[in-house]
Amino acid sequence: QEQSKKQFTDGMELITKFYHYLLGSAKFGTAGMNYLKERDFNSEMIDRFRIGYAVNSWDAVTSLLQRRNVSMEQMEKAGLIAKRGFDHKYFDRFRNRIIFPIFNMRGQTVAFGGRTLGEEKPKYLNTPESQIFHKGKILYGYHLARQSIRKSNQVVLLEGYVDVVRAHQIGVTHSVASMGTSLTEDQAAALSRMADTIIICYDSDLAGIEASFRAAGMLQGDGKVVKIAKMPEGYDPDDYIRKFGGERFKSDVIGASQTLMTFKMGYFRRKRNLSDEGDRLLYIEDILKEIVTLKRAVERDHYLRLLAEEFSISLDALKRQETQLYKASK
Ligand code: ATP
Ligand code: MN
Ligand code: MN
Ligand code: MN
Repeated sequence: QEQSKKQFTDGMELITKFYHYLLGSAKFGTAGMNYLKERDFNSEMIDRFRIGYAVNSWDAVTSLLQRRNVSMEQMEKAGLIAKRGFDHKYFDRFRNRIIFPIFNMRGQTVAFGGRTLGEEKPKYLNTPESQIFHKGKILYGYHLARQSIRKSNQVVLLEGYVDVVRAHQIGVTHSVASMGTSLTEDQAAALSRMADTIIICYDSDLAGIEASFRAAGMLQGDGKVVKIAKMPEGYDPDDYIRKFGGERFKSDVIGASQTLMTFKMGYFRRKRNLSDEGDRLLYIEDILKEIVTLKRAVERDHYLRLLAEEFSISLDALKRQETQLYKASK
C-alpha cells in the first residue's frame, strides 16, 4: 500500500518533469510554447505551475515509463496511458495538449488536466479519480496560494486553471480554482477553514452566475463574509485581465465584489421594471424570500432596513411580511 503510493507519486513526478521539459525544449515544445506566449503567460508562471506540453505522439510517455520501469498498470489507472483494444499495447492519452499538473496540498502532482491548442473537443481532458486523486477535495493552486491566503485572510475562488495562473501572474496570489462550476462540500469546507473572507469570481456566463449563487449559499454561515465579484457578461477572469489589465481587475472586480444579498438585489432588479408598481412589489417579494434564508438575525435585520429605505416603506410592515414568509418556510 505505502509502496504503491510512493510509486504513484514518483511516476506522477516523473511525468510532470517530462511534460515540463518538453514544453521548454526547442525541438519539441514550440507549438505549446507559442500557444502559451500567444496567451501572454510568462515563463515565471509556467515554471511556478510546472505547466507542460504533451507532444503529438502516441508513445512519448509510454516509452518513457517503459524505460524507467514504472508500473504501467498504475499509470493506466492514473489515466496517463491507455490500452489499445486489438493488440493490448499502451498508448499516450494526452497528445498535443497543454498540461496543467494538479497538485495536492503538499504540492505533489496527483492528476493532470490537458488543454487542446485549438478548438477540438473536449477542450479539457482530465485524468480520472483515483485512490490518490479526489477532484472534489482539491482546490487548484492551493499550495501556491496558501501563504498569501493566510496573510490577507481572504481567498479568491475562480473556475479554471488558466484563471488561477493569470491571477497569480498579476499578483492576486490568494487565488484557487474549483476546476469547473460545481463546488463540492469538501471544497467549501476547505475554503471556510482557510480565511474569513471568500470572494467568488466565476465566469460571467449563465452557468457561472448561477454557480456563484449556489457556491455562496454553501459558504455562508460560520461567520464568514462571502462576496461575489462581477465582470461584464461573457468574460472570465483571464479574459478580463487580458482586456482591461491586472490593476482594473484588482480594483473593479475583486475590490468591488459584493455580498451575496447585494449581488442578488442587483440581479433581481435587472429582471424587473421598478417604475412599475406591480413589478416593484414582486421585486420586494423576491428580496424578502432571500432575506428569510439568511441564518443570522442581524443580517436579516440589516437587509430589511436597506429594503425599507430603498422603497420608503415602513420597516414594521416589511418585518411582518418577513415573519409570515419565515413561518411559511418552516
Ligand atoms: P480557456 O480559457 O483555456 O478556454 P477556461 O478555464 O476558461 O479555459 P472553462 O470552459 O471556463 O475553461 O472551464 C473552467 C474549468 O472547468 C477548466 O479550467 C477545467 O478545470 C474545468 N473543465 C472545463 N471543461 C472540462 C472538461 N471537459 N473536463 C474536465 N474539466 C473541465
Ligand atoms: Mn466557464
Ligand atoms: Mn472560463
Ligand atoms: Mn478562459
